[in-house]
Amino acid sequence: MERIFEKKVVKFGGSSLASAEQFKKSADIIKAEESRRFVVPSAPGKRCGNDTKVTDLLISCYKKSASGEDWSADFAEIKSRYNDIISGLGLNVSLDAEFEVISENLKKGTTQDYTASRGEYLNGIILANYIGYEFVDAAEVIFFDAEGRFDADKTNEVMSKRLADVKNAVVPGFYGSSPDGSIKTFSRGGSDITGAIVSRAVCADIYENWTDVSGFLMCDPRIIDDPRPISIITYRELRELSYMGASVLHEDSIFPVKVAGIPINIRNTNRPEDSGTLIVPSAEGYNSGDLITGIAGKKGFAIIRIEKDMMNQELGFGMRVLKVFADRGIPFEHLPSGIDTMCVVINENDIKDIEDEIITDICKAVNPDHIDISHSIGLIAIVGRNMAGTPGTAARIFSALARVGVNIRMIDQGSSELNIIVGVEEKSFNRAIKSIYLEFCIEYELQDC
Ligand code: ADP
Ligand code: ASP
Ligand code: MG
Repeated sequence: MERIFEKKVVKFGGSSLASAEQFKKSADIIKAEESRRFVVPSAPGKRCGNDTKVTDLLISCYKKSASGEDWSADFAEIKSRYNDIISGLGLNVSLDAEFEVISENLKKGTTQDYTASRGEYLNGIILANYIGYEFVDAAEVIFFDAEGRFDADKTNEVMSKRLADVKNAVVPGFYGSSPDGSIKTFSRGGSDITGAIVSRAVCADIYENWTDVSGFLMCDPRIIDDPRPISIITYRELRELSYMGASVLHEDSIFPVKVAGIPINIRNTNRPEDSGTLIVPSAEGYNSGDLITGIAGKKGFAIIRIEKDMMNQELGFGMRVLKVFADRGIPFEHLPSGIDTMCVVINENDIKDIEDEIITDICKAVNPDHIDISHSIGLIAIVGRNMAGTPGTAARIFSALARVGVNIRMIDQGSSELNIIVGVEEKSFNRAIKSIYLEFCIEYELQDC
């Protein structure tokens, strides 16, 4: 029997609201079910391949204004994006007063976060008018603390009260406010997080995230042509894949819904008939024959390899190495190690310009026999809840990589056996992903037939 959902939160991404035509598709989806009561819009995204997202235009205005350059052309483009949507929808709405406020604030030297957030704010006003829902400014219901961290408790308390008696509302994505009242945004792609926060606050039955692909795919569609969609994935698997570059859903979107156990459904605005991917707290009861749930990867890492005989017997060795990074506020990504070697995998951007100083500090801290650094490393995560307890998975990954001549620079497997991460040179990155995909995902497709 099909489950009946009484209350849904629906988030529409930038491509779903990039033009009047896309707005109409999104509105049809909202209106198709009364349960779609709370809507979270992104700013207008790209209408085609070489288009610019409104958020990027806004950030460009901010940067130009901060450095004294002329930002009027970018601002004119932003206005025309919104005005085209308004006229294409036949709405009797004017955003001129809002444009004036933003322009004045830019002249007065406002912040990047305020400027970037206006993309969602203005799109929210248009959408609320178009579908006849109440507009609730995210600045009134989403809060950050003085250190810039999202304040989940205060947000949930205020937002759940504010929305308790509201039948239908549009809450713009991506931003909230700081204790001093200034606007603060999440990191890029953060409207997904707003959707999850609203879902928790209204105790939604499901959080639908409408985008431009028919669900979470087993691999990045920009690397593999037409990858298989994932029908069911757990929160934990999704977080691993999102963090490692499967950018379809912001990795921090999981936390608010996890607290309340609300499932997320990724859907395609351009193909609403597709059922998409269901993201669930636990996969119990949903059986998938796939050993691997998905593959994702990110480039731009460096590996610092430290060798010292008898390292394992030197108490506090690892702690002293890591302190070098902690003292400079540099997070590390992975720490694969052997008896006499320790590798620290870090984001290359974090050590740009200070590489020599870091090496000197490590030498002072632990006096290694040898230390070297490899650049341009890509990390690939092979994620799957069914890998736990299945022997031979790592061997199959190695042989898939060997088959296409890819050298493995690093390997790391968490003790939960949910994922295996391999580091390869960036030049072999796409080849490595393709070969792993063919090894695990195509074979299962054949078995399914
Ligand atoms: P939105 O603007 O709707 O938030 P995003 O651009 O943030 O959409 O995310 C959707 C895009 O994520 C897709 O168009 C696709 O190019 C990319 N993507 C990367 N990895 C995956 C994956 N594993 N599955 C689906 N899409 C992926
Ligand atoms: N508009 C913001 C961005 O481009 C947030 C989002 O789309 O989720 O990053
Ligand atoms: Mg997104």
